[in-house]
Amino acid sequence: MADAPLRIHLASRNAKKLAEMERILAEHLPGATVVGLDDVPAYDEPVEDEPTFEGNARLKARAGLAATGLPTVADDSGLCVDALNGMPGVLSARWSGPPKSDERNNELLLAQLHDVPDERRGAHFTCAVVACLPDGREVVVEGRMAGRVIREVRGSGGFGYDVLFEADEAPGVTTAELSRDDKDAISHRGHALRELAPRLAEVLG
Ligand code: IMP
Repeated sequence: MADAPLRIHLASRNAKKLAEMERILAEHLPGATVVGLDDVPAYDEPVEDEPTFEGNARLKARAGLAATGLPTVADDSGLCVDALNGMPGVLSARWSGPPKSDERNNELLLAQLHDVPDERRGAHFTCAVVACLPDGREVVVEGRMAGRVIREVRGSGGFGYDVLFEADEAPGVTTAELSRDDKDAISHRGHALRELAPRLAEVLG
């Protein structure tokens, strides 16, 4: 009898992330399906209160594994601004307070950097990804995208702080002005997932 297809749980409701991970994993684990939070029975999701991206990703991955029994992958990401000592960091999504608003977060970022000259506007996005396997093993990877924060919003793609961020690898445009594929090729999440895929294939294959 043929083996049942491998199912991997990505603890996320973001359809774009699910599709991106399935695309990247397909090269290394053909036939594996990625299921999201909406495809598994509901469970208590942890509060993301760790001080590091890796810590938050681990909380989510462990909770997902405990609830589903499936190998579970979770990520946590955010923007770290040099002139703000790495803030907003793990607080990126909710930096300007509830309810979560990309627009207010971007206004706050511009206000905080108002007097910061161009040569000190360096920043990077970080994405930590943790995979927890049923046998207790964990795979941890991290991806980065370095760049700078500009002075006014530009572009209509992407999400979050993309409208204010120019990547070193794509100067002159914001990451909100890149196509999905061009952003995936240089993004923190793309780097992390491309590193994760062969390692996951090795431990699950
Ligand atoms: P999450 O880890 O995908 O939930 O992202 C946390 C927050 O970090 C988002 O709400 C955004 O504010 C910010 N962020 C993470 N990745 C990106 C990105 O690729 N572009 C813009 N903002 C991002």
